[in-house]
Amino acid sequence: MLSFWEKQSLINYDIIIIGSGIVGLSTAISIKEKSPGKRVMVLERAVLPTGASTKNAGFACIGSLTEILDDLKVMSAEEVLQLVALRLSGLRKLKARLGESNIEYAENGSWELIRNEQSELAALNSLDDINEKLKPVVGGKAFECYPYKAKKAEFGFNDRYVEYVVKNNYEGELNTGKMMRCLIDLCLAKGVEIKTGCNVVKIDENETGVSIIVSNSFSETEIVFRATQAGICTNAFTGSLYPDLDIQPGRGQVLVTKPISNVTFKGIYHFNKGFYYFRRLGDRVLFGGGRNLDIETERTTDFSANEKIRKDLLDKLADMILPGQAFDVEDWWTGIMAFGATKKPILKRQSKSISLGVRMGGMGVAIGSEIGEQLAEMILNGLR
Ligand SMILES: Cc1cc2nc3c(=O)[nH]c(=O)nc-3n(C[C@H](O)[C@H](O)[C@H](O)COP(=O)(O)OP(=O)(O)OC[C@H]3O[C@@H](n4cnc5c(N)ncnc54)[C@H](O)[C@@H]3O)c2cc1C
Repeated sequence: MLSFWEKQSLINYDIIIIGSGIVGLSTAISIKEKSPGKRVMVLERAVLPTGASTKNAGFACIGSLTEILDDLKVMSAEEVLQLVALRLSGLRKLKARLGESNIEYAENGSWELIRNEQSELAALNSLDDINEKLKPVVGGKAFECYPYKAKKAEFGFNDRYVEYVVKNNYEGELNTGKMMRCLIDLCLAKGVEIKTGCNVVKIDENETGVSIIVSNSFSETEIVFRATQAGICTNAFTGSLYPDLDIQPGRGQVLVTKPISNVTFKGIYHFNKGFYYFRRLGDRVLFGGGRNLDIETERTTDFSANEKIRKDLLDKLADMILPGQAFDVEDWWTGIMAFGATKKPILKRQSKSISLGVRMGGMGVAIGSEIGEQLAEMILNGLR
């Protein structure tokens, strides 16, 4: 039961954000930048952010050639270009806000591996056309193709698998942990309260705003926070609050090796429409993906491992990426993304006092800061 004092001083806010991933934290920061006097709180169900933002690969990416061609099958050219523009402006905002060196942002090269498979080789026929389409958005030539044999000494991948490499001139990489650390620190510096262990189970709306009902293991009764406006940034987990939204969870498996003595490549790499991705992390390699191998099983919010996919990742790492090199895996983990019929995120006012910024797909590092900015504007408009 809450005390008189708690009810008086600890449960009322101007704005409550639910979810402390990239989008929730960025939204809270944007609100404070625009309106520093507002009392803002972020509620997180777990001790750490527990979705995708602390689990991802840290690619600051606009999309590979085969990924963009795949997007064009389900979205119009205009929508695909809008998404690329959103990714670019999100990355600009993220870097300017947090500082490139603080998040270890670097451009060490971004490459797509084109394997000896008809669908991948066929993508090369569209390279010039895609470059033309992207030019007004990115400002120059996005993709350049090279036969793999010309680059083999630089990369060291198994040339039995890789036929061509396509360079992306507009992508970089960052340190995911440092990015999240900086976002949390910036929230705290701006006076945003972050409460962890607060699982939001229900949101009731009334004339004056919202009542946000939170369960927590220390309290027998639920705690009800009140705010004039709420922002929902729960991404793949939004279905428990709004089951009718088009949101499909998608689990991603990732590994990081122990230090390896002679990794030759640097930068970030994708293949198979972005379903697989790897990068060099100092003297280690991060490798993840493979969701397409077992797509139905991976439509889950459960963080368990998928042994079939893990085996595939280990096989590809040994055979294709690090042929002839011994390695051990230091860490395995999973994270949960959110997808829908199209790749467009959901950014909308759900009702008078509730706005949503969810369904970031595999692009939240890139678009999260811009979505946060737009969501903050929507929430503040609700207060005016
Ligand atoms: C393996 C993997 C690799 C990826 N690689 C990249 C990449 O290289 N580049 C890129 O741009 N993107 C990448 N992504 C995608 C990117 O990480 C996500 O798009 C982004 O993190 C989504 O951020 P978010 O804030 O919307 O959601 P999340 O990070 O999922 O945050 C949602 C938060 O809401 C909390 N929450 C949920 N329900 C409740 C509730 N009821 N009450 C309170 N709190 C709740 C969760 O615990 C979570 O902390 C990757 C994702 C994964 C999983």
